[in-house]
Amino acid sequence: MSAIDTPNSQHIVIIGSGFGGLGMAIQLKKAGIEAFSILEKADSVGGTWRDNTYPGAACDVQSHLYSFSFEPKSDWSRKFGLQPEIRAYMEHCVDKYGLRNHIRFNTEVRSASFDRDTGLWTIQTTHRDPIEARVLIPACGQLNQPAIPDIKGIESFKGKIFHSARWDHSYDLTGKRVAVIGTGASAIQFVPEIVHQVKALKLFQRSGAWVIPKPDRPFTRFEQRVFENVPVLDRLYRAQIYWRNESRALAFTRYGFLLNIFKWQVKHLVRKQVRDPVKRAKLIPDYPVGCKRILMSNNWFQAMDQDNLDLITEAVDRIEGNTIVTRDGQRHDVDAIIYATGFKATEFLSPMKFTGLDGIDLTRAWKDGAEAYKGISVSGFPNLFILYGPNTNLAHSSILFMLESQIRYVMQCVRTLQAPGLRYMDVKPDRQQAYDDNIQARLKNSVWEAGCTSWYKTASGRNTNNWPGFTFSYRLMTGKLELQDYELEPATATQA
Ligand code: NAP
Repeated sequence: MSAIDTPNSQHIVIIGSGFGGLGMAIQLKKAGIEAFSILEKADSVGGTWRDNTYPGAACDVQSHLYSFSFEPKSDWSRKFGLQPEIRAYMEHCVDKYGLRNHIRFNTEVRSASFDRDTGLWTIQTTHRDPIEARVLIPACGQLNQPAIPDIKGIESFKGKIFHSARWDHSYDLTGKRVAVIGTGASAIQFVPEIVHQVKALKLFQRSGAWVIPKPDRPFTRFEQRVFENVPVLDRLYRAQIYWRNESRALAFTRYGFLLNIFKWQVKHLVRKQVRDPVKRAKLIPDYPVGCKRILMSNNWFQAMDQDNLDLITEAVDRIEGNTIVTRDGQRHDVDAIIYATGFKATEFLSPMKFTGLDGIDLTRAWKDGAEAYKGISVSGFPNLFILYGPNTNLAHSSILFMLESQIRYVMQCVRTLQAPGLRYMDVKPDRQQAYDDNIQARLKNSVWEAGCTSWYKTASGRNTNNWPGFTFSYRLMTGKLELQDYELEPATATQA
């Protein structure tokens, strides 16, 4: 019988088997806690690294840092990992730590509601039987719901359409006229891969991107052997990456002007690699460097220079059959449309519905934008701990470092709740308010407020996604669970 068939009143449910969910599960295992399940909507693990299989998918954080600190991999093939290798690393973690028996695949969570009397969450999934949990840990990431633009007339399009995060590998792009909408982190990775394959590529750019060179290369066999045989060097290499990345935090959070150094670099690169002056001018963004995510590529501008690539900055007005019509009336006939339009990143935990104390609905609680104490706890939603929650995203380093900080914190919450005599813990509303006020005040000085829209911000302009500081300050802040931050509700006589 597997762990998920034997729930008890201490059962822990994790939603999602990306890096957050797997990391949490590993720490539970290490602590000797077996009563947990991972509910996974798909049929395999990996989260964003399972979903994003587009050509050229890779990480823009160095492999040695974009991996668990406790599970080094000495034989990374390159400085920056490719999607298949990162996904294989995650599968390796599942096997090594014996997690497979805990995962319920093809089980999508629809809703969860908390019962004050029992102190338990009841979780409804796509399967009939609800699941009960003392602790509920959504680990769904910020980038899992593709954003699909609402284009007039799209239903009349008879060609192929898909989103970059749902790449249709059965569709052969060879010799096709392909439209790509969007020029963010995903587009800059796959456009250079497909531009030579397609007949014509119409790239619809709403905003340019600051694209800097990627200091990437394969590791030599010698380097891999050194990492393997002298583990301390592997760890020193990781530490060196960590501190180098960390030194950039101040540029994002306080001294945005420092990022101007990239501006000159990008302008120089564009001049060198793009022949057409009209294209060149379109490629230079009109907002400060870093306001949107800084992207890295060694072949983006070369791709832009290809004769079969048409860079269109006029907004899409409508679609008529297989023709995309822009606002200036230009008509573009295409066989396929690829949306590289990103994710609904500010709609945390959607489309799941969470109901907390007194029937409070999480979407209502977050009507002005998502917020959570330390990015983890939400007042009114006891025993719920979010991984990669509001204001924990980074522009300068590895999200795995943030996840490991959160997991350590949540482990303390789990231990607190497993002690007899406690029914639930609910973060105090004034603590959450004070925390959020401080985060929002600090964000005001950041480069993300320098005058652009981005996936970090809601339509009303509130930055719900980014952490405004160093990752080590976040680690220190989450290092110790302060019980006075929470209302602690004792168990009833029958539960104690
Ligand atoms: P994104 O960065 O949000 O880019 C979306 C692009 O689509 C932007 O250029 C955006 O333009 C455009 N767009 C959105 N809606 C549009 C519309 N209705 N009409 C026209 N254009 C529209 O999304 P992404 O490229 O998928 O990347 C999202 C995030 O995923 C990244 O920032 C990164 O954190 C992560 N990611 C990471 C890696 C990695 O290497 N680790 C790789 C891929 C993705 P505007 O800028 O004008 O809104």
